[in-house]
Amino acid sequence: MSYLATRRNSDSVKTASEIRDEYLSNGIKDTEWFCPFCGIELTAKAIYGKKGQYVKSPHFSSKNESHIRPCTGDGFDLEENTSVKVNNDKKGIYGKISEVPEKLRIDKFVKNKIVPIENVKEFTTEIIKGRIDKLSFDKKYVSKYSSRFIRSFIEAKKYILSEIYKILKENQINSNDEINKEFKKLLSSYPLSLPENETNYYNGFRTTKFYSKKNIIWEGIGIIDIVDGKYVLLNDSQIKNGEKFYDLNLYVDISTEILDKHKNLKILRNAYEKKEKRIWYALGKIQIDDEILKASLCINNIDFLYIPE
Ligand SMILES: [Zn+2]
Repeated sequence: MSYLATRRNSDSVKTASEIRDEYLSNGIKDTEWFCPFCGIELTAKAIYGKKGQYVKSPHFSSKNESHIRPCTGDGFDLEENTSVKVNNDKKGIYGKISEVPEKLRIDKFVKNKIVPIENVKEFTTEIIKGRIDKLSFDKKYVSKYSSRFIRSFIEAKKYILSEIYKILKENQINSNDEINKEFKKLLSSYPLSLPENETNYYNGFRTTKFYSKKNIIWEGIGIIDIVDGKYVLLNDSQIKNGEKFYDLNLYVDISTEILDKHKNLKILRNAYEKKEKRIWYALGKIQIDDEILKASLCINNIDFLYIPE
């Protein structure tokens, strides 16, 4: 199993998670992948599955032949691999539910370019070592399942919840209290790395009923407006902080022109025109103004907004 690959005639290297994101946004499957270090052909695994399928982390396996020594596939000794694996032993009846994206990625993991594999005459030990040394990337995160879309995390959470629910029903656990307790226990056991917030699948999400000062994924519902050429998503309910209640607006600090071109967000225009209420998800920190009792969430990254169709 490895996590890095390159295309034919390409000088760039990508992680399996990045390729999964590309597929989720453009739907194009690329069938040819190669090890960037030793040039053998690779097979994509759990990369081109249907949306919402989170059974296994995206990765590669060698297609016909093993990696040429000293290549291990990831440019570092697998013994040193610091990837945090979810400890399934502790999950009891839920043992093998799923692997879910763990880190919200903002930058590319691999920054340098390499000589395309076609231009290498022979993959000798020296050449392979040279290619490994040339690429700089964060070893700690390459093998972690990551995504740059908040959508991936929201879908993964829904998937885990539906699987937990199924297992609870099979085990005849029916009381709401018990179910909620199990949801909390299990979701807390899945780590989630958001910008400025190392959290988990329980604490990293919240509906817009209770305020938190943390950078988390919020879920709200309301109609959509346009103010000064920008979308504003209004929230139906007020958000509570201590004893006070605040009106909450989500400001999308990206021009409507840009958003209308984005295929996944044309939905904003449709909802605005139809004056329909929509559920929205956004990653950010909510700011509150005590004088006017208003709360605002402002986002300027398209990938941090998700409006299900
Ligand atoms: Zn290799």
